[in-house]
Amino acid sequence: MGNCAAIYTARLDASCAPRQHLRVPTSLQFICNSCKALSSVQTFEQAPGGSYFCRCEKCGTKNQVVHTGQTPSQPGLLPVTGVIQ
Ligand SMILES: [Zn+2]
Repeated sequence: MGNCAAIYTARLDASCAPRQHLRVPTSLQFICNSCKALSSVQTFEQAPGGSYFCRCEKCGTKNQVVHTGQTPSQPGLLPVTGVIQ
């Protein structure tokens, strides 16, 4: 049973370590270029020029983003490349 004791000790040590409160995004998000708010991607919309944009949940600005092929349900942060007027 020596191995079990060793595993138990290791778990205790891990639980004693200071926990970091990292905010892990649960969905695809971006930072609005206009109001700097963190906004969740609801859907990708395509501009007439062929670029993709996501609307800010707060101010409605069309933030042009790099469409990486991710779906809105995948966690991550999209880089905003500009604003579509
Ligand atoms: Zn905004």
